[in-house]
Amino acid sequence: MSPRLLTSVIDGAAVAGSDERPDINPSDVSDIVAIASSADAQMAADAVAAARAALPAWSSTTPWEKSVVLDRAGSEVMGRADELGDLLAREEGKTYPEARGEVMRAGQILKYYAGVVLQPHGLALDSVRPGIEVTVTREPVGVVSVITPWNFPIAIPAWKIAPALAFGNTVVFKPADLVPASAWELVDILNRAGLPDGALNLLLGRGSVLGPVMTRGVDAITFTGSIPVGRGILADTIDTGAKVQLELGGKNPLVITDHADLEVAVECAVQGGFGSTGQRCTASSILVVTAGIHDAFIEAMERRMAAWTVGDARREGIDMGPVVDPDQLAQDERYLQVARSEGARVIGGVRLESAVDGHYLTPALAVGTSMSDTINTEEVFGPVMSVVRAGDYEEALAAANASTMNLSAGIVTTDLAEASHFKRHSKAGMVMVNLPTAGVDFHVPFGGRGQSSHGPREQGTAAVEFFTTSKTSYTAPGAP
Ligand code: NAD
Repeated sequence: MSPRLLTSVIDGAAVAGSDERPDINPSDVSDIVAIASSADAQMAADAVAAARAALPAWSSTTPWEKSVVLDRAGSEVMGRADELGDLLAREEGKTYPEARGEVMRAGQILKYYAGVVLQPHGLALDSVRPGIEVTVTREPVGVVSVITPWNFPIAIPAWKIAPALAFGNTVVFKPADLVPASAWELVDILNRAGLPDGALNLLLGRGSVLGPVMTRGVDAITFTGSIPVGRGILADTIDTGAKVQLELGGKNPLVITDHADLEVAVECAVQGGFGSTGQRCTASSILVVTAGIHDAFIEAMERRMAAWTVGDARREGIDMGPVVDPDQLAQDERYLQVARSEGARVIGGVRLESAVDGHYLTPALAVGTSMSDTINTEEVFGPVMSVVRAGDYEEALAAANASTMNLSAGIVTTDLAEASHFKRHSKAGMVMVNLPTAGVDFHVPFGGRGQSSHGPREQGTAAVEFFTTSKTSYTAPGAP
């Protein structure tokens, strides 16, 4: 059976582009998941125009109507979790349980915002001047461009599109070109759930072609991806004044102190660093380990990593699927090579030969690194962690705070004073105690500090800040 053709969706209609790109299964590159028809710049302009035309009608639907659409879509996503999880694992390469979990989360996010839209978001209060009433209302921002990365093909789109629609905006959505199929399914589900034509448009294709159109002529851009692309978008909007929200790279430290439970430390490290093949913005990348536990921790990690199974993302019992594509695999290997050349001892990190051609790398740990080494200053985005030895907790905290990409940070300790001190003094936007640095809830704010984020937080009720604009009105009811 030939792979199905996926097209963009503009104003409710399927629109084919000028060229085509295969959606390749990274576990087995002979398996073509789908063919994506790439949109061109004119199609991007048409999508923006369709979203603009749909704005008055969608923004004036009642909260209940919006809630019904989001809830219905959430039910379908969750009801099809097995099938969509399989599709996601097949096109992105995270294991089936991880992929199914991500699909469930997308459904939960849709349902969460179906509830949020029914909550009060405004204020009514007395003025400081007698006899005057003040109201603060929340209005849609307008047309929102949603640009997403490949590593969470359905959850990240859901956590941007759901609040955008819930607060009355219309959307032009461009997923990463490595993962068009999960994105197409999400858009199809939302449109069939009752969105009017043009409220949610999908553009499949290259960011360099579509991005410039999507960042102009719209009222807001929410972007998750790499720092250079995010910075480019920000620069492009200086003269348009569009609102910009950026979620970018992370360099996430996990501190393991002498007071840590060794088993908990190892599980936090492997789940945080190698879960989803380490391809998470919140993945642990630097393990900062204090002197008293350092050697025992490395030995325990070596044992745990030897038992870590790598293979086809959809095979049962696998701990880790493949790396997403050959470029990312080459990048992972390059960083390991640089770490060796800068004096590290690398455990694991070898290409796995398998019966089928996939991008398999065993988990890697670079031991004996220092904070100034390349591997500790740049984002790798693969199943690769490094270890930095610290004299004591204070030194470990300083190392953890040395990064400029402060998305998530963690500490493993049984000492309450250390845990409390770390929560207060970490520079990261999210802090985990005795938990992996990755793995967050959808009903609370998400985001980093430093170079990691720009603009208001995502998720939870914090999303109201980005996806609405407030209006303050003054009324003198008794005025002549
Ligand atoms: P990327 O920056 O290459 O691409 C992200 C998206 O931007 C894709 O849809 C891409 O097509 C698009 N794009 C590319 N050029 C563009 C342009 N000129 N204008 C507009 N859009 C353009 O990132 P990626 O490789 O897909 O994802 C990996 C990166 O994403 C990592 O750096 C990771 O840390 C980051 N990430 C961050 C978070 C977070 O919440 N902080 C979450 C997931 C991933």
